[in-house]
Amino acid sequence: MQTKKVDELALNSLFDYIEKKGLRKTIERETVLKTIYQMDDKVSIEDILKKHQELFPQTHICRSTVYNSVSILLDANVIYEIKDKNCTVYCKAYGNSDTVELICNHCRMTKLIPLDYISTQIYSLGIPDFKIETFRLQLHGICAKCALEK
Ligand SMILES: [Zn+2]
Repeated sequence: MQTKKVDELALNSLFDYIEKKGLRKTIERETVLKTIYQMDDKVSIEDILKKHQELFPQTHICRSTVYNSVSILLDANVIYEIKDKNCTVYCKAYGNSDTVELICNHCRMTKLIPLDYISTQIYSLGIPDFKIETFRLQLHGICAKCALEK
């Protein structure tokens, strides 16, 4: 999927949510979403702040605005959060959904990897009264670094 298309899907989804909930459509919610969609799979609040300044120097935001926007984006299901070691990071929900999340049980490292070769099987599972649109899988185990230290 093209980045631009994914961007638009997420943005439309956010606008639908804002309208349905009767919230205000602020420029910050839009720019924070665009910022996250311009970045790699996992981003922290710090990463978002830094990249936002780079992309939208004319829109000044503070940390609490980022927290606030992120919480609305989470509610709108356009991003999701994962616990990475000691911090929370955020991922795009569109264009990043058919992925597998690897979690080390020892150091809590997380990594997202695409697993194209199983998606066909997952989509054809044939669950009654349910159509799969996207999926997220979590695999728990031990990372190479922790395995070496054992
Ligand atoms: Zn580990």
